[in-house]
Amino acid sequence: MSDMKGYIGFACAYTPLPIIYAAGYTPYRVLPMGDSPDQAGHILHDNLCPHIKRILDRAMGNDLPDLAGIVFMNSCDAMRRLADAWHHIRPDEYSIFLDLPATADELSISFFTGEISKLAVALSKWRGRNISATEIEYGILLYNQIADFMNELTEKIYKGKANIHRAVLQELFNRSVTGSPITFIEDARKILSENRPNKTVNEGVPVFLFGHLLPDPEAFMLFESCGAKIILDDLCTGSRFFYPVAADGKKGLVKSLAESLLLRPPCARTIDSTMPGKIGKILISKARESGARGAIAHVVKFCDPYLSRLPSIREEFRKAGIPLLVLEGDCTLRSIGQQQTRIEAFIEMLRQ
Ligand code: SF4
Repeated sequence: MSDMKGYIGFACAYTPLPIIYAAGYTPYRVLPMGDSPDQAGHILHDNLCPHIKRILDRAMGNDLPDLAGIVFMNSCDAMRRLADAWHHIRPDEYSIFLDLPATADELSISFFTGEISKLAVALSKWRGRNISATEIEYGILLYNQIADFMNELTEKIYKGKANIHRAVLQELFNRSVTGSPITFIEDARKILSENRPNKTVNEGVPVFLFGHLLPDPEAFMLFESCGAKIILDDLCTGSRFFYPVAADGKKGLVKSLAESLLLRPPCARTIDSTMPGKIGKILISKARESGARGAIAHVVKFCDPYLSRLPSIREEFRKAGIPLLVLEGDCTLRSIGQQQTRIEAFIEMLRQ
């Protein structure tokens, strides 16, 4: 697609990127990174999740590429606050707020299909031309290629078949959602070729890392310096992000996209009404499969969806006899650095 029209911002891993790309825009995930000054507090309450506030700080600090517009998913009340605040500081910019079902049953999939169609209509208006089914198909193909590439590489790294640092993998995760999907795989191969394999093999204690946002590659250097070896992750800025779309022409591309997004490994805001504690059970099976000696949860403070699930998650780990360390962060490396002693003590305990 030669006539690309700039970036469309997004924040949530449930955002349907193939539709944004099909409309001729490059999806740009506004990650809660960088050192923009704290300004969000001028508009939003302080006790709101730092993920939201860091994103608004970047917008208020103009620490973003030029955006042609932004897509918000109704993942939680905090995201709704962000959409309101964003419109307040950037009233002339295109923005859309899509409802996101909390469950993944048939009714929710049909509803979400409607929301994604709404997005396609809005993007067509912003773009000044309709999006074709061929373009959506191509968008899905591209992001499936990226998902396959990243899943294969991630597995190699976690299985010790590619001696590449987890921090380098995080750079690739970040690059895959902030730049052209067309050139991503080419860029990824270049980044991998430039990064000489680790001279030393990380002999750390195998740990399963889960939670939501941890986009800073240096965080993985810090875990390693504490004696941990991350052998699997379930993060929305990591492995949980890449889940290929099973495009089914009979079902329709948009419905296939809605279904694949809702049926991906759940984040804490997604529930299964038939099995309330499901997320805890899924995390336990992943921890066991990975062979980890313990697990570290990285949770963003004031994150209502995750903090409300934490008691049942802790209980599942206690029942399974798998040691769990919970870190509450504010999307900065500093907030993890302040818990270095706890991480070191936890790893030492696992080493016994
Ligand atoms: S981190 Fe939690 S509260 Fe913040 S936007 Fe994500 S789901 Fe919502």
